[in-house]
Amino acid sequence: MIIVLRPHTSRDLIEEVISEVAKLGYEPAPIHGATQTIVAAIGDESTHQNLESLSALPQVERVLRVQKRFKLASRESQPADSVVDVDGVKIGGGHFAMMAGPCSVESEEQLLTTARAVKAAGAKILRGGAYKPRTSPYEFQGLGKEGLRLLELARRETGLKIITEVLSERDVEHVAATADILQIGARNAQNFQLLIECAKSGKAVLLKRGMSERIEEWLLAAEYLLAHGNPKVILCERGIRTFETYTRNTLDLAAVAIAKKESHLPVVVDPSQGCGRSDLVTELCKGAVALGADGLLVEVHPNPAEAMSDGQQQVDFHAFRGLMEGIQPFLQATGRTL
Ligand code: PEP
Ligand code: MN
Repeated sequence: MIIVLRPHTSRDLIEEVISEVAKLGYEPAPIHGATQTIVAAIGDESTHQNLESLSALPQVERVLRVQKRFKLASRESQPADSVVDVDGVKIGGGHFAMMAGPCSVESEEQLLTTARAVKAAGAKILRGGAYKPRTSPYEFQGLGKEGLRLLELARRETGLKIITEVLSERDVEHVAATADILQIGARNAQNFQLLIECAKSGKAVLLKRGMSERIEEWLLAAEYLLAHGNPKVILCERGIRTFETYTRNTLDLAAVAIAKKESHLPVVVDPSQGCGRSDLVTELCKGAVALGADGLLVEVHPNPAEAMSDGQQQVDFHAFRGLMEGIQPFLQATGRTL
């Protein structure tokens, strides 16, 4: 950390800062300029007390952090890409995975026809919410345990891996009994107790970015999973809230590029929540793949007009086949295959 003192700070007050820095376990290294002194505090910021509280001293102008707040998630701690292996389906480090399926699990027929269609088009992982986080309590909340049973049925028939959302700590154990990947939704992106429970389950976790979450906060949420002993973490950009009304959210592809630079974790993109419009999903998938996203999470429904949630953004089977063909040149251009 670097502590910048106000111009013309007296010797005594400089000494006070130096001794506070030493008291907090850092080695102080003062640099005296013509009018201003800065004190470099040498030590590991992640194991020592934060020095930001020193800004409370009147002679301190600013306290600057040198190290990243996220450690295990950072490229500095691990330069090589992490590869998350979901029972043989790899994500990250040049391995691309398509995850597709309905927003909500609605019925056996809906789920199984979708599972067959997405598998035939090249998806390796079936998505489908059994527990749905709905804005209104009067909207379809998901089939719960029955939805999990149907997901298991779909896995048995197709061999697709399953990703499904877990909404609360009390559901982690039984959702993890079905899921190959636990999805943490945008609304729970900083529910740290839920993150810790998911980490303990040992299952791979796909961590969505919160609607108004900064990239640093997103990576710190991933740090919770890593710090609690689960290395199988996949980041997912799903759009953030902005002033724009043409789209449901603003898909932040720059965040994907930044997350991949800052972190070794695989980053996937959910263009469905990302824009909320089925007519844009394929184009956004192409952009995400071109940028190097390690996978996509796409909502697919046999008949989006009849969907019980998010009908406006789900693509039908025909459009999904087109999407899979459409991303091929972008996968090739970035050295990946399906
Ligand atoms: C979803 O994937 O259907 C979903 C609810 O996602 P998010 O948490 O990104 O809104
Ligand atoms: Mn949805």
